[in-house]
Amino acid sequence: MFQSDVSRREWIKSLGLGVGAAALTSVGLTNREAQADFVHKEDKTTGKLLDGSQANPSTLQADGVVARPAVSIPKISETDVLVVGAGPAGCCAAIAAARLGVKVTLVERYGHFGGLATGGLVLHILGHWTKQNGEKVQVVQGIGEEMMQRLEAMPYGIINREHGKNPTLDAEAYKYLLVEMITEANIEVFLHSWCCDAIMADSPDPKTGNPIVRGAIVQTKSGPQAIVAKQVVDTTGDGDVFFAAGAIHTQREYDIGLVSRIGNLDRVNPPEGTKRPRHLGDASPVPGVNWVNMAGPSLDGCDPRVLSELELKHRKQIWKQVEEVRSTPGYENVYLMETAPQIGVRITRVIEGVETLTLENAKAGKTYDDCVGVGGAWGGDHIGWQIPYGSLLPKNVENIITAGRSISAEPLMSDLVRVYPNCWASGHSAGVAAAVAVKSDVTARSVDIPEVRKNLLAQKAYLG
Ligand SMILES: Cc1cc2nc3c(=O)[nH]c(=O)nc-3n(C[C@H](O)[C@H](O)[C@H](O)COP(=O)(O)OP(=O)(O)OC[C@H]3O[C@@H](n4cnc5c(N)ncnc54)[C@H](O)[C@@H]3O)c2cc1C
Repeated sequence: MFQSDVSRREWIKSLGLGVGAAALTSVGLTNREAQADFVHKEDKTTGKLLDGSQANPSTLQADGVVARPAVSIPKISETDVLVVGAGPAGCCAAIAAARLGVKVTLVERYGHFGGLATGGLVLHILGHWTKQNGEKVQVVQGIGEEMMQRLEAMPYGIINREHGKNPTLDAEAYKYLLVEMITEANIEVFLHSWCCDAIMADSPDPKTGNPIVRGAIVQTKSGPQAIVAKQVVDTTGDGDVFFAAGAIHTQREYDIGLVSRIGNLDRVNPPEGTKRPRHLGDASPVPGVNWVNMAGPSLDGCDPRVLSELELKHRKQIWKQVEEVRSTPGYENVYLMETAPQIGVRITRVIEGVETLTLENAKAGKTYDDCVGVGGAWGGDHIGWQIPYGSLLPKNVENIITAGRSISAEPLMSDLVRVYPNCWASGHSAGVAAAVAVKSDVTARSVDIPEVRKNLLAQKAYLG
């Protein structure tokens, strides 16, 4: 319920060009909003009866085909860099690009930032250490490291930041931090906006003959809306934009789980000799609260039937697991705090990039001229592997860069690619590359790599 002392006009103005664009700094919260609902408060109405003439629905034809009418779609924004998907990769991309002074628009289907790290309750940061000359070296610097440092300064924000350890963050602290960082960077935000299509230029790139992406359509409560952009970064994790744009990719299936958090672990008192129950998970930054990971079956994470089935199945399983924990003597007070609002899809669509990462190359320490980041090892026990810019670029579509878990890599690389440090590093580099391409008025494919690397280093990224 939106109750505010700001006038309706101020509120609409704060929404930017119309629907859902929250200029985050200008929506001041008042005491009244912080209070509970008022009884018998009149709602606000325009006083206008809407006759339904805006509707343009699809038709079920006689041949059984459902046809969508051709419609022109309202444009809600024109931007330099459009980042679709505000998970760990997307937030880094948006912040990095905005810090280079271009206009950045960030689109997210849910109502918060952070992707699987917040909505998915995946709290453990695996793989940001490598072993070099016998020493453990932290590969994620730049924006990822800044995030961890800022979480460290927040109460219950992050634990295990000691040298060589893999830290664990708190989802609420990270959500809050991302609001701060996105707001500070002056990024235009559209939450509750689900990208459902790509916008393509009306003619192909004269040099490559490839189609050119020019933005995205988002489905909103106000209908479809268009965002036109010079460069697009696809950080949806599932490659929703490059899929819609016709980029060559592979479709993968990998354990789909559901993460949960359990509480009252500081109130367990098992009699001596009690075996530790299963499904207790691992410590989180909040005392007495553990996060509980789940593997789950390898199925198609883009299929709504699969996702629906697993949501039901996993919730039942988690409830039973907690009952099992509670039935252990001394653990009676343990309770299920929450199941993640977002199902844990690990890998789905992976771009067929200009360069593809392989485990063999990663282990051999292959170097690339277009290296834009370095990935780590889960336990920090092997050398770092370079992330070439070519692994973020699709082979056959222009002006779209991907980052995060959908970059070009063979299946054996999935476990190294999908962890947070790689998502932060690849997101960071995608954002910088997109901004450099805009500033130099070239396609993402022909961006000047030394210039990208120079800007990444200026933003404290680690390039090996
Ligand atoms: C169960 C599970 C356990 C894991 N355990 C670990 C671990 O211990 N350590 C570790 O480092 N990693 C772990 N991972 C991997 C890690 O969580 C993810 O790979 C990482 O979050 C990927 O980041 P991303 O930014 O690429 O994508 P995501 O985190 O998936 O973010 C994508 C964002 O895009 C949004 N989005 C998607 N589609 C659209 C659309 N069409 N329109 C608008 N917005 C859209 C999503 O809502 C989301 O916010 C785990 C993953 C899972 C699922």
